[in-house]
Order: sequence, then C-alpha cells, then structure tokens
Amino acid sequence: MFFATKDLNQQRGLDSHGVELLQPMDTIRTISWMKEKAREARQDQRIIGLVPTMGALHCGHMALFDRAGKECAPVYASIFLNPTQFGPNEDLSKYPHPLDADLRKLTDAKVDAVFLPSAEEMYPAGFSTYVHVEGISDRLEGKSRPGHFRGVATVVLKLFEIVQPHYAYFGRKDAQQVRIIQKMVRDLDLDVHLVICPTVREPDGLALSSRNEYLSPEERKSAIVLFRALQAAQKQLLSGVTDTLELQRSMRNVLEREPRARVDYVEIVDAGTFEPLGRVTRRSYALLAVRIGNTRLIDNMLIEPAGDAFAVEL
Ligand code: AMP
Repeated sequence: MFFATKDLNQQRGLDSHGVELLQPMDTIRTISWMKEKAREARQDQRIIGLVPTMGALHCGHMALFDRAGKECAPVYASIFLNPTQFGPNEDLSKYPHPLDADLRKLTDAKVDAVFLPSAEEMYPAGFSTYVHVEGISDRLEGKSRPGHFRGVATVVLKLFEIVQPHYAYFGRKDAQQVRIIQKMVRDLDLDVHLVICPTVREPDGLALSSRNEYLSPEERKSAIVLFRALQAAQKQLLSGVTDTLELQRSMRNVLEREPRARVDYVEIVDAGTFEPLGRVTRRSYALLAVRIGNTRLIDNMLIEPAGDAFAVEL
C-alpha cells in the first residue's frame, strides 16, 4: 500500500508527502535511448502520450501538452524539423528554432522527456522507404506542396515506431494532416489512439502558428483576413447558402479586400474524405492557404449547415 502511494506520487511528480518535486526533463537525442526509455515506461504499465512538433512552441502546441498531461504519464514531446516535408524552395533553413525557450516551455509544462533526433539518424544515407497515403495527400496542401504529406506520414510513422505511444496528440489547425495520419493509422493497423485538439487562436481569431513570427506588424494585422474569410463562409452557410462555389466566392471576396493577401487556395471539402463538394449538406471543412507578404499561412474551420463552427470545433 505504501509503495502504491509512493509510485503514484512519483508518477505525478510529487514526493511521498505529496509535495511537488522539480522533475528534470530528459533530453533524448538518439533513437536507441528514446526506444529504451519508452520501453521501460510500457513495461511499468504506464500510459505514454506523444506530442510531435517541429519546435518554435506556442500556446497552440502547449494546449496539446496540457491535454496529454491530463490523460498520460509519461508525456513525451518530439522536436524535429523534418526535412522530407519541406520542398526545395520552402522555409526549412529559416524556420525558427528557439531551442532553449522551447525546452523551458516543455519543462514548465511538466513534459517528461523531449526527443530531439538528428536528421542524419532519422534519415541515414541510403534511406528510401516512404509512406504515401494515396488520394488525399495529393490535394490542397499536397497539391501546393508536392511531397509534403509523404514527408509528414513517413516521419510520424517513424516516431510512432520509436516511441510506440498509447496516445498521440495533433492539432486541428492542420486538418488535412490529421486526416492523413488517421488514414495511415487505420490502413496500417497502427496501435495508437489519436487525439485531435481544437485550433488555438489569438483573441482576434488568427490561428497560432510558428510562421506568424515571420509577419511584420502590418502583415500581422492583415493576417486576420484568413479567419474573417472562414467566418464569412460559416455565416453564409447559416443563412441558408449551401452552394460551395458561392461560399468559396464569399471567402475570396473577403480575401481580395486585403491588399497584402495572395490566395493559394480556398476550398470547401467533405470533412471525412476531403473530396470537393457541390453543396454543403453535412459536416465539411472550409480551408484556405494565403500568402501575407512572403509568409504562407493556412487555416480551416469545420462548418455545417445548422451548426456553430466554434461549438463544433471545441
Ligand atoms: P508543428 O510544430 O507546426 O508541426 O505543429 C505540431 C502540432 O501542433 C501539430 O499537430 C499541429 O497541428 C499543432 N498545432 C499547431 N498550431 C496549432 C494551433 N494554433 N492550435 C492547435 N494545435 C496547433
């Protein structure tokens, strides 16, 4: 009985009197060490939660850690700037990587360990095995960023294999990515439960993103137009307009009024298949990708004919 209490307290980061201990977070840089650590946790019958990220952590990421902390112990973070999901002309080399600040945030969030693999170990010379989730990976983000989702699916499968988490946490901010990972998990019978968390937004509606850091103060003000366009579609839908062309037009109208915005795509698709729709008669996603200056931002909203987008998302 004494040992049971002690174990439980230790798992919660408390000493035997229930006083909070300062738990040092493990920083794990090799695949073999990460595997070993996770294997020990599984042998101890513990519930492993994994939150994969590319770092430059913000409150959107931290919401995933909060949720994981309520459901799992240990919680592992991964920070890996995955080269295979970036195209040759994309922002891999200038993607923000404030590692010290990230480690502090993870420590404050009581994350148990952070996995920081090197690109050389994740993709050793001669690496040639990739996961391609057919169909859905070639649309929207996949069409604009060829190979992007192949890189995402491959690295997520590798992380799942290395950590073998019971639960893995992803944000709805990347709705198409979520759907692709869900499909991969189902198609390959992976033994992991995916937890999808709502998009965290700034008070004015801009979805938090590591790429928001690239925006100048003027561009930051303009970036609100993405959320406004999504709201316009939802409002139109609630007023009875179900024709997707008309809904997309209302989104484009909002975006065109912002001189700094250049539309990449604006689409409304079935929320399950991500196939285009003629009419919105069931739960669907409005999705967009827009350049504000040189920064490409994406956002989405779950919409349905007789629903409130926020009520659906939460
Ligand atoms: P990233 O570091 O951009 O790869 O994101 C890591 C995870 O955080 C992904 O599952 C994202 O969908 C999620 N995420 C990013 N931004 C947000 C946000 N604003 N709200 C909720 N989740 C987010």
